[in-house]
Amino acid sequence: MMRILVVGAGASGLAAAISAARNGASVTILEKMSRPGLRLLASGGGHCNLANTASPKTLPSLFQGDGATKFCRHALGRLPSSELIRFFASIGVRICSPDGFHLYPESRRATDVLNALLLETRRLGVKICLSTEVKSLIFTDSRQIAGVAISDGHEIDAEKIIIACGGKSYPSLGGGESALALAKSAGHASAPFLPALSEIHVSENPFRTISGVSLENASLSLICGGSTRRFHGELLFTHKGLSGKCALDASGAISREIHAKGRSEFFLSFVSDMNAEAWNSKITEWRSSDGSKRTCKMLSGILTASLSRLVCEKSNVPETMLLSQMGRDDSKRISMTLSGMRLESTDLPPIGKSMLSCGGISLEEVFSETLESRLRKNLYFAGEALDIDGPCGGYNLHWAFASGLLAGTAASSDGQPGEYGHLRPTEPIQRP
Ligand SMILES: Cc1cc2nc3c(=O)[nH]c(=O)nc-3n(C[C@H](O)[C@H](O)[C@H](O)COP(=O)(O)OP(=O)(O)OC[C@H]3O[C@@H](n4cnc5c(N)ncnc54)[C@H](O)[C@@H]3O)c2cc1C
Repeated sequence: MMRILVVGAGASGLAAAISAARNGASVTILEKMSRPGLRLLASGGGHCNLANTASPKTLPSLFQGDGATKFCRHALGRLPSSELIRFFASIGVRICSPDGFHLYPESRRATDVLNALLLETRRLGVKICLSTEVKSLIFTDSRQIAGVAISDGHEIDAEKIIIACGGKSYPSLGGGESALALAKSAGHASAPFLPALSEIHVSENPFRTISGVSLENASLSLICGGSTRRFHGELLFTHKGLSGKCALDASGAISREIHAKGRSEFFLSFVSDMNAEAWNSKITEWRSSDGSKRTCKMLSGILTASLSRLVCEKSNVPETMLLSQMGRDDSKRISMTLSGMRLESTDLPPIGKSMLSCGGISLEEVFSETLESRLRKNLYFAGEALDIDGPCGGYNLHWAFASGLLAGTAASSDGQPGEYGHLRPTEPIQRP
């Protein structure tokens, strides 16, 4: 029987263990915390938004990380949301979608998801060793994978090892840098873990006085690597800058820019689908229909009063100016502020409090078809440990389950993609 060690009992590690054990392997999970699946329990505010119904075609393009879109196609292609629902049905968890997009367990309880995963590992005879931190990988003289050294000094041998020890955020839920250190010892490159799905700290924060105010559908745009990335959704102004879905989704890209260049410049559009031209024609309309109204009062119909005052101030237009008195240049400046207020961030928020880490083990040195290391046979990776991060909305757990199932199946199928129950086999992998 093939002996497989899984490092980490989070979403990806449990999925990997289940698929490997279903394939007949003898599986042991090593988990450093005293309880498994702590991050899974905290997910979705305890409700566990474990995936969504985004089309399998667009799904990969929503992930960030160097080469992420191409890389995650295999794992997500083998576990689209319909198959993920079948996987959960196979362990007794029924999935619902209250809004037709986000997927949750029918009970809306993350504990039910974790308990079902644990019950299945028990049924399959998977051993879970808690309070057991993997300190290092052990290699044979010919640098083949041989096992791991754990916190109490003991060594455990294994034929295959799956590194599923997550990212750096929330140390209280198991976050740390083990994945990068273990991968490095096997010769793997990585990008540092940085905060993602976090608040954005805005330099000289102009929103300090309106902290708590929100916009229903704003957008943030930033230019990365020659192309413009646009994130939209609800936006919340905070004491330090920006939060809400729109900011959380943009935060990983902004962290990467700050890390690379020391600063990130980005643009806020107060209403996502209105550009400067659309605002300019709206103001022209107002000037003829409501010329006796004050600019700030008119804007308050769309934004809040406090935001309208801020927009006037940033556009250098007196808030009391009557619309009939407004000149073309005033209108242009207001339109520019509303559609693309320039903001800058130089300060990374604390990673400990971010929901996710971006960065991780470089994808170039991992086979996307099996998640096996290209450098070291019998070493596999899954989940947040890899340099892949998705937006809010179930994408990251979907990736954790999809990559875990793939790594577990491939590890127990001798480095071939293997079959997981209902899924088709794919082409054999050609090793270099
Ligand atoms: C508050 C919060 C809410 C979230 N909500 C959602 C949501 O609703 N939907 C969504 O898609 N995503 C959500 N996420 C993100 C999602 O939880 C993660 O992307 C996902 O859990 C990652 O799974 P993983 O298995 O890769 O890592 P983890 O779940 O972090 O598991 C890694 C495990 O490895 C263990 N470990 C680490 N190092 C070692 C070591 N050296 N030896 C042994 N064990 C080790 C850790 O203790 C941990 O248990 C949320 C995250 C947080 C923090």
